[in-house]
Amino acid sequence: MLRVGTYPARVLRTVVHTILASAAFALHAQKGERARGPLACAPVADWARTCTLCCWQAAAVYAISCRVNHACRPNVHLSSRVAISLAMREEQQRGAEKPGTHTQLYEQTLHALHAIAAGDELFVSYLDVGLASAERRRRIQAKFGFDCHCGLCALSGAERAASDVRQERLAAIASRLAQLESTDAAIIKLTTERMRLLDREGLPRAWAYNDVIRCFNHWCTKGAYVKARGVMLEAIAHCELLFGGDAKTVRDLRDIIEER
Ligand SMILES: [Zn+2]
Repeated sequence: MLRVGTYPARVLRTVVHTILASAAFALHAQKGERARGPLACAPVADWARTCTLCCWQAAAVYAISCRVNHACRPNVHLSSRVAISLAMREEQQRGAEKPGTHTQLYEQTLHALHAIAAGDELFVSYLDVGLASAERRRRIQAKFGFDCHCGLCALSGAERAASDVRQERLAAIASRLAQLESTDAAIIKLTTERMRLLDREGLPRAWAYNDVIRCFNHWCTKGAYVKARGVMLEAIAHCELLFGGDAKTVRDLRDIIEER
């Protein structure tokens, strides 16, 4: 049995309020739209209509995953992914005129980043990577009302300083990578450095999967298809870890590599 934490009541109220506010905005945005699925839209107010399970955009509360506590160095990855049943996928493959109305139904899944012992608590990260310890502390306290005591935040002295330098470098790399075209060879060097820094921080190098996919594109533009294939296999492994082997992202990446 793995444990899922609970929020203090004060924080939970804030979280629930935020979720409901988001849901209300989502409903409002659909005002006047017609339901596209078999479950009819039900009027929930005179200004909003929604169908809760099968419209193209929806707000949802995930009763279990929303209770998983935070660690800057998490042991699970929370994935929001499109849930497509086998029947729906077969329907799509048959080229049905109206493929499944549920193709945009989302589910949240938790994926272990490494072996987790029975009884250990699960943690996800509420923050983006690339924040020094003081900034992480400030954001977590301001938004969620607690102090993080994860392995990364527990570092002190020179170790903490070194971690902060790595985090700031991770932020700089992300910013630089966002500016580069796929043809730029710097993508390879920076992605390699990013994964090395993630390793040093005890964070999953799989978080760099998007950059690895861009490395695939880079090698394709150079006509280096053997290297491209190797990089894509690495990206697929990252995505399997983060999203599960049955995730649509993984299937799409496998389709790309099989086409070549
Ligand atoms: Zn922390």
